[in-house]
Order: sequence, then C-alpha cells, then structure tokens
Amino acid sequence: MNYDDLADWQKRAADWARDYHAGLRDRPVRPDIAPGEFLAKIEAPIPEAPEAIEAIFDDFTRLVPDAMTHWQHPRFFAYFPANAAPASMLAEQLANAMSAQAMLWQTAPAANEMEDLVIRWLRDGMGLPEDFTGTIHDSATTATFSAVTTMRELALDHTGITKGLSGAPQLRIYASAQTHSSVDKAVRLSGIGQDNLVKVPTIPGHPTWSMDPDALDRLIREDIAAGRKPAGVVLCVGGTSIGACDDIAACIKVAHGHSLTVHVDAAWAGSAMICEEFRHLWAGIEQADSIIFNPHKWLGAQFDCAVQFLRDPGPQIGTMGLRPEYLKTQGADEIVNYNEWTLPLGRRFRALKIWFLLRAEGLSGLRARIRNHVAWANEASDAIAALPGFEITTPPILSLFSFRYQDDAKTAELLERVNRDGRIYLTQTYHDGSFVIRVSVGQFTCTREDVMTIPSVLAELAQDL
Ligand code: PLP
Repeated sequence: MNYDDLADWQKRAADWARDYHAGLRDRPVRPDIAPGEFLAKIEAPIPEAPEAIEAIFDDFTRLVPDAMTHWQHPRFFAYFPANAAPASMLAEQLANAMSAQAMLWQTAPAANEMEDLVIRWLRDGMGLPEDFTGTIHDSATTATFSAVTTMRELALDHTGITKGLSGAPQLRIYASAQTHSSVDKAVRLSGIGQDNLVKVPTIPGHPTWSMDPDALDRLIREDIAAGRKPAGVVLCVGGTSIGACDDIAACIKVAHGHSLTVHVDAAWAGSAMICEEFRHLWAGIEQADSIIFNPHKWLGAQFDCAVQFLRDPGPQIGTMGLRPEYLKTQGADEIVNYNEWTLPLGRRFRALKIWFLLRAEGLSGLRARIRNHVAWANEASDAIAALPGFEITTPPILSLFSFRYQDDAKTAELLERVNRDGRIYLTQTYHDGSFVIRVSVGQFTCTREDVMTIPSVLAELAQDL
C-alpha cells in the first residue's frame, strides 16, 4: 500500500464512516455478543504473506462494527459521554497523516505552540484566572498520577526522585469516597501506598455529597499528631458514580491552611464550566493548584484528550521532567517542552483536535449542547420519578442522575432487560448501600426524543417484572 492507495482507501473509509454514523440509530447500542465470540471469527496465525487491503477492509466492515459498543450512539447513556465531534475527527486524521512525535518544541513546533494557545482558550472559556497554564495528557489517570507524584515530591523536598522512598516519612493524601479510582491508582503507583489514602467522609445530607472540610481538617491534624506527613488533597467535581462535587472553596481553605497542594478531578464535569451558570459547582476553583478535565468526555474532542491546568507548573516539571543531552534544543534552554510536564516522552499532536473543535463549534455551539443535555436529563428524571415503583436515588447533578426500581434484585433485573433490549444503554453503581442505575446524558448527537426514550423503555420493560 502506498500513499496513493492510502488516499483512495481513506475516501472509502470516510464514506463508510458517514454511513456508519447515519445508521447508528438503527443499531442496538451494545452488541448482543458473548465473550470470545468475536475472537473465534478472526482467530488466525500471524500472516506471513501480504494480503490485499480489500480483503482486510472487507473483514473489518463485516465483523467489527457488530462486535462493538457504539459510544457515539445517540442513545448511549452509560458510564460517561465520549464525544468525538466531526471536526475533531477530521483533525485527528490530519494529525495522523503527519504522525509527528510532539515530544519537544523542536520536534513539532506547531503542535507545541498550538498546545499553549488552546490551553489559554480553554482556561478563558471556563472562567479560570490568567495565572493558570497547563498541558495535554492522554488521560485523567495520567494527569492525576502526575499531580499526586508531585505532591509526594513537594512533601519530600524532591528527595523521592533521587533517593527513593526508603526511610521517608509516612505520607498521606486525602480524598472523599466519591473520587474516582484513578486517585487510588495514583496513590498506589506513586509509592505512597493505598493505606495512606485517607477517605474523608462526606457531609451528611449535603446536596452534592461534598467532602466534610471539618473532617478533613481533623484528619490532617490527627495525622500530624501521630507523626505522619500530609502531602496533598484531591477534590472532585462531578464524581463518576453519582456526580458528587466537593465544596471546593471550603476544602481548599483547609488544605492551604496546612500548606497542602490541591488537585481537582473534574474529568467529566469540567466541560460544563464553559457555561457560567454551572460554575457554582466549583466555586473557589481559582485557588486550586492543579485541575484535570477531559475534553474527550463531554466537550467533543475525540479520545484521547485530557487537559491539566496548573497554577505553577514548576513543581510538576521538577518531578516529571528530565533533559538529557539528546533532548536539548541547542541554544534555547528556556523553551517549553511539554514532555517534561507529563509522564511519557512521546506525545501525540492532541492540540489540533481542540483547535478544530473550538473553531468549528464555537463556545456558543458547545454551550447549547451541554445546556440541552442538562435540561433533558432533568426532564427524563422527572418522568422516571412519575413511573410506578421507580425512585430517583440521586437527582441530576448537571446531566447525571440515578434511580432504582423497587429493590436491588428488581433493579438489577431491569438493567439486564434494558441492555439486552438494546434501544438504550445504562450502567449501575452502588449508592447508600443500594444497587442503582445511572443515567448519563451527553452524547453529541442525542436529541430530546432520544433522551425521553429512557422513561418509555423503562416503563415498558418494568411492566411484568
Ligand atoms: N475521573 C473521573 C471523574 C472520571 O469520570 C474518569 C473516567 O471515567 C476518570 C477520572 C478517568 O479518566 P481517564 O479514562 O481519562 O483516565
């Protein structure tokens, strides 16, 4: 295959993509498929001789889409949205065509300088102060790992990266039970250790299940009294389970009172902060030291794309950065090389899809979508609450809510029926000791009618339960 062939096949791939998206509404959101069923269809020895692209492409269209869960389906209401706006897909195609390693300014000047611009665009669009800068990671998990490892190094005066952790004081990180498991992973892998992740209780009856700042203060003081060393606090805005939001201002006041760094995980909900009316959910955010949000979730930048804002990138660069001779830019030591801010050396040109997305949709277009999702989630929640036997267990926080049907067993059976049926796709969580079903509205192409399919499918499938 050469680049002429590539151009022809890309045109065919583009036609296939158009038809795929046009036909999504007619497909079940999740395939009716057993584990191993797909592999049995493609199992073969490693090819020795080249094959015609025609045959490979054919196998793809015949076998793969039917064995996929369709994340771009307008009735995908599971987990979280993973929007890929057409403009961002186009940008990815162009970035792929150049396939640059954007690890240094010198290896991809446009990627490097565009990253600087789109970070400032997003910072301004989300109402963050001008003293924030930032970078783009692959995932929120990597960014949170970078932030937690930086907390470790700040607490150890940057001796962890040189001398290791043996003999170091017992470090402590604080987060609420509503934070995502990526925080647990970061604490484990940074060498701080899971047992040193202190899960701070939430305030009883708090409308967004905030961490209790008084409990945070008490736990920090107890650790200090016991000879342990507090290292940092991770807060959440829009937890994955039910959308919990910590009281950012109050918790940061406590953390900073103890000179602790604060990282805020707004992976999903961060996108909504382009709308001024939702910013009360992270009031006080301007005091945070680090914030992560995933434009690849609700904003529309094709996966993968995780933006970390940093008030002062110095400590993170001091932790993650290395500059051996072969990675220096001759005569320009002061230049920003974003690999020094993040874990991997190699970096994709991710800024391009944000640049395309923001220009093609405009903040106004993106805001209109998010506002619709929030309004329709509220409407669907009200309609479910009115169905006999149904109870809203957590009301909408932005566009995420949860419900149950009679008891745990019936709720689980209903979820099974819904997902076997295929018209909509929902997933579960545990809340207050009960098995509940989550509804997460946010697909780029969903309409009000798509969202209102949820109560009608539920009413139909619960009938003879
Ligand atoms: N934090 C929150 C609140 C999330 O919802 C998720 C993903 O669902 C993550 C972190 C992890 O995101 P990523 O897949 O980018 O690592």
